[in-house]
Amino acid sequence: MLYGIGDLRVEDVEVPEVDAGEVLVRVKAATTCGTDLKILQRGYVEKVIKLPTIFGHEWAGDVVEVGEGLDWPRKGMRVRAGNSAPCLRCIMCRRGRYNLCENMIWLWGAYAEYIKVPAHMVLVNTQEVPQHVSYEEAAVAEPLACVLHGVEEAGVKLGDTVTIIGAGPIGLLHLLTVKKIGAEKTIIIDLVEERLSLAKRLGVDEAINAGKEDVVERVRQLTGGYGADVVIEAIGLPATWEQALNLVRKGGAVLEFGGCPPETEIKVDTELLHYGEVTVLGAFHATPLHFKKALNLIASRTIDVRPLITRKLRLKDIKEAFEILSTSKSEIKIAINP
Ligand SMILES: [Zn+2]
Ligand SMILES: [Zn+2]
Repeated sequence: MLYGIGDLRVEDVEVPEVDAGEVLVRVKAATTCGTDLKILQRGYVEKVIKLPTIFGHEWAGDVVEVGEGLDWPRKGMRVRAGNSAPCLRCIMCRRGRYNLCENMIWLWGAYAEYIKVPAHMVLVNTQEVPQHVSYEEAAVAEPLACVLHGVEEAGVKLGDTVTIIGAGPIGLLHLLTVKKIGAEKTIIIDLVEERLSLAKRLGVDEAINAGKEDVVERVRQLTGGYGADVVIEAIGLPATWEQALNLVRKGGAVLEFGGCPPETEIKVDTELLHYGEVTVLGAFHATPLHFKKALNLIASRTIDVRPLITRKLRLKDIKEAFEILSTSKSEIKIAINP
């Protein structure tokens, strides 16, 4: 069953009851995310979320009730949690691949006044938000965690040239992260001028409008004819996954970060992998350690996510937020406040 933005509505629901080990949080801010829009429109990821439901998964708030048996967190504490908690026992968790957990607990339901954090998630993936960090900023720890995982997998190093396809929130978080790691040159590609100019404000070295310029030629030109050390696809379309392969140098890495629609495929030139020794990798989600690191990086402003939050709307206007998200050319992240 496919849904659309037209199916979004605000309804009264019961405040969740808290059992032992669980925590009830009053949501103070939740941010919009392309993933939510995709879930709504593509109607997939059945393992993760079953529609219809309350959705939204990037949030922070105040603890208002603490279940029996917990000595942390305390009532009144500012926290963020989830949106996942690996079981720590399955074959993937035992190999340290927590993001690939076979029994992952997912938490959706941030676009609400209250959200209940499951007991296991309280233990595994809940963090206190420092006083000087806004709830909106703390909510961005979720996408940043995923980006940290991706950049780690791609092995971005000091002195690398990094090309990013897509200047939406995920592309820009990649930009901020690789710059901190010490990328020597950053190149970003998008079709929308407003997004490219925000990337420029955030310090990208070269911004390419794919609608106006030949991307492959331009990237070659900017990299001495060789291609980038690392190319990151942050859109989630087979065409751009394939394009990424044309922008990397021999021996470089392509991180296919954006999730494509189900049952899609890409073509890879065998010679590129064989003679070119190009590494192609995917990255999915993040581990609890990445969530913790992401919040710390936001709190220390090592990665300043504030410029990415462009608007604030009330919860009752959630539909409008998603309409803006699906049609707007420049909106980055919208904070939803109950
Ligand atoms: Zn997200
Ligand atoms: Zn597991």
